[in-house]
Amino acid sequence: MIFLKTEDEIELMRVANLLVGKTLAEVGKNVLPGVTTNQLNKVAEEYIRDHGATPTFLGFPNPYGEPFPAAICASVNDQVVHGVPNDEPLKDGDIVSVDCGVLLNGFNGDSCYTFCVGEVSDEVSAFLQTVKESLYSGIEKAVAGNRIGDISNAVQLHNESKGYGIVREFVGHGIGRKMHEDPQVPNYGRRGNGPMLKNGMCLAIEPMVTMGKPQIYMMPDKWTIRTRDGKLAAHYEHTIAIHNGKADILSSFKEIEELLKY
Ligand code: MG
Ligand code: MG
Repeated sequence: MIFLKTEDEIELMRVANLLVGKTLAEVGKNVLPGVTTNQLNKVAEEYIRDHGATPTFLGFPNPYGEPFPAAICASVNDQVVHGVPNDEPLKDGDIVSVDCGVLLNGFNGDSCYTFCVGEVSDEVSAFLQTVKESLYSGIEKAVAGNRIGDISNAVQLHNESKGYGIVREFVGHGIGRKMHEDPQVPNYGRRGNGPMLKNGMCLAIEPMVTMGKPQIYMMPDKWTIRTRDGKLAAHYEHTIAIHNGKADILSSFKEIEELLKY
């Protein structure tokens, strides 16, 4: 069942999602060689709680009923998603995707950004750029009257045309009072397929893309997902609303990108 949001609810969603953007920027300030993902997690959790919100990932159950132990997922290099923060220092040339969710005033925010640690190669930089662009090419299709498959197809083509792999096992989602609502938003699919987009729909669009082959596996921690071929993976996510017929991006990379001076 897809829950359509009212104007007032969309504004509450925006408040929660802007807090996620600011939290990711706080984390981004600390993404440096020698810093651990546990330290990044601490920055995020404190920032979220200082702003009166709850980190939704903390305690969120996996399919085995085990609670996620942190406020962010921090997925380094060949880790695709759901990386558990740890005490391993980040190294120059690593990439780390930081996925974050908050609950504020009864509504959820969810956004993710892949950061570079120090300097990365031109090849890696081009990969990250493509995956981020693919998020926006999906968002462009998120207009009333289009279908979920129009978003999915745009994301897929953008990445596959450059030879990158689309992870099939994890998808974007509706979002609102719950972090995961209907409909699913896959990063692959056919144009004109799937549920029709309507005003009031709120969606988390989140390309999860590999530099090599798209196959993945789960680590024994039952959380961390990695690429089978050991190549890098990237993940960018915005929460959007279909609002006045168009995509209204509720989360924001503005603070992050000011920080990174892109
Ligand atoms: Mg997320
Ligand atoms: Mg999400």
